[in-house]
Amino acid sequence: MPYCPNCKIEFEESVKNCSDCGTELIDSLPKEFFLDEDNLALLTICTQMYEAEFIKANLESADINAFILSKQDRNYPFLGTIKIFVKKEDENSARDYLENINNQSPSTDEE
Ligand SMILES: [Zn+2]
Repeated sequence: MPYCPNCKIEFEESVKNCSDCGTELIDSLPKEFFLDEDNLALLTICTQMYEAEFIKANLESADINAFILSKQDRNYPFLGTIKIFVKKEDENSARDYLENINNQSPSTDEE
């Protein structure tokens, strides 16, 4: 799968440049991602990149490394599947954290 080393997004075979940043795609995921994959757990699946970036940023503020793997459909670029992985050792804390994020409604007056 062509892959943007910059955005860490996977694309369809026919795509040559990243639709996000224009970087020329490389042939496959970087090796370290594959090497790591056994140690990664799928945390959640998003449909929007901003959602994924939001979760990743939140996890990283809690010292949890998050990895975003996005597969974009070239016919429906806005309907990609964005998977968020965390290290297996971080999975439980990441899930707890994610629940907290999901429970935070932007309009609550909770103090
Ligand atoms: Zn890119």
